[in-house]
Amino acid sequence: MIDKILIANRGEIALRVIRACREMGIASVAVHSTADADAMHVRMADETICIGPAPGTDSYLSIPAIISACEVTGAQAIHPGYGFLSENARFVQIVEDHGLIFIGPSAEHIRTMGDKITAKDTAKALGIPVVPGSAGGVATLDEAKQIGRDFGYPVIIKATAGGGGRGMQVAKDEASMERAFMTARAEAKSAFGNDEVYIEKYLQKPRHIEIQVFGDGQGGGVHLGERDCSLQRRHQKVFEEAPGPSITPEERKRIGEICANAIAKMGYSGAGTIEFLYEDGEFYFIEMNTRLQVEHPVTEAIFGQDLVREQIRVASGQKLSFTQDELKINGHAIEVRINAEKLPNFSPCPGKISAFHAPGGLGVRMDSALYDGYTIPPYYDSLIAKLIVHGRDRPEALARLNRALGELIVDGIDTTVPLFHALLQEKDIHTGDYNIHWLEKWLEAGGLSS
Ligand code: ADP
Repeated sequence: MIDKILIANRGEIALRVIRACREMGIASVAVHSTADADAMHVRMADETICIGPAPGTDSYLSIPAIISACEVTGAQAIHPGYGFLSENARFVQIVEDHGLIFIGPSAEHIRTMGDKITAKDTAKALGIPVVPGSAGGVATLDEAKQIGRDFGYPVIIKATAGGGGRGMQVAKDEASMERAFMTARAEAKSAFGNDEVYIEKYLQKPRHIEIQVFGDGQGGGVHLGERDCSLQRRHQKVFEEAPGPSITPEERKRIGEICANAIAKMGYSGAGTIEFLYEDGEFYFIEMNTRLQVEHPVTEAIFGQDLVREQIRVASGQKLSFTQDELKINGHAIEVRINAEKLPNFSPCPGKISAFHAPGGLGVRMDSALYDGYTIPPYYDSLIAKLIVHGRDRPEALARLNRALGELIVDGIDTTVPLFHALLQEKDIHTGDYNIHWLEKWLEAGGLSS
């Protein structure tokens, strides 16, 4: 069994892992940059170690600094959280070469799923339905235009090495293809150092539905249903819920079993998410995330399972603590991502928190690294809190979200809280009638100012 874990991350997700460690009787080591010396994860961990200056590339992304921190503190395992090094196959290889345990899947599985073309091919071979599109990378404009004609416009051009919603461009027709293709390639090059792109049919009104899976690394796999993450701005999720309001129990069982079988066949180990676009009763694979997701708490709420604990168990060679038959959905959960951003432009708004009060009560969970007097540094992601509510059904969860948002106090900076107050006024949010384009259209139509 692992008895000391180093968390190669910061913010709320570092706290999340520290909490699981504490409940399991495992010692935790927090790493931090000089800018994070006063951060909450540093205060909460059993041990702390500074790994470098403020910029992520010199600290949370520095592989030598993190490996040395393990050696100095005697941690046997590394939990990567999400972002930073969590999907870096080279890092996983180096961790293993140093005789340490990476809490996550193998380097090979990360590499396979990290390249989106290989991921799609692999998914297809495992019986997972995929979005129609180019067979592999598209190198020339002529080729891109031919694909547009073959599949019919609109199409979406995506970076093979993509992530975080970057490097994606939609071409409405052949006339707009040149600009879209060139822009996508340039963005891919600057964001990922690789300008390879591929093309997919652009779905007009899909929902984003993702299936949570878990593999035991020994040929076993289960699914924990879906999350609907269709409310997105610039391809970034802002509001997530489980179960999906549009998914029937039969559909859940069908797609869930396809995913669980795929995971088992791959010999996958740990937590993963298989992402789909869902339109007119059909699921289309877009990518797999080989890590814990930001929105995992909604799944934890409805299944009553601690996913970080399971990740640690699997990484220690233990079996999953549940079977598929034991996993039953209880109620409905919603998460909203609270960012330090100024509306209506969502511009980053770091700074000092002059007052903070977290909501509480039945069915309310607040995952946040904020505290009174904390200064949010400008170097990292703007996510500062996740508010998760759980109710017996969707209307109760929405009423609870409204109540909890009303109790929350974050003074001193601007946050995205007013966005959620405004969304809760919308009929479509209450009926669950939205797709991946709903939020952008609502924002364009001045939703925030009404
Ligand atoms: P990333 O890894 O950058 O997050 P994804 O492939 O997961 O990229 O896509 C992110 C989002 O982009 C999806 O949730 C969806 O909103 C949009 N998207 C991706 N592919 C398509 C498509 N073929 N049609 C319509 N929208 C798409």
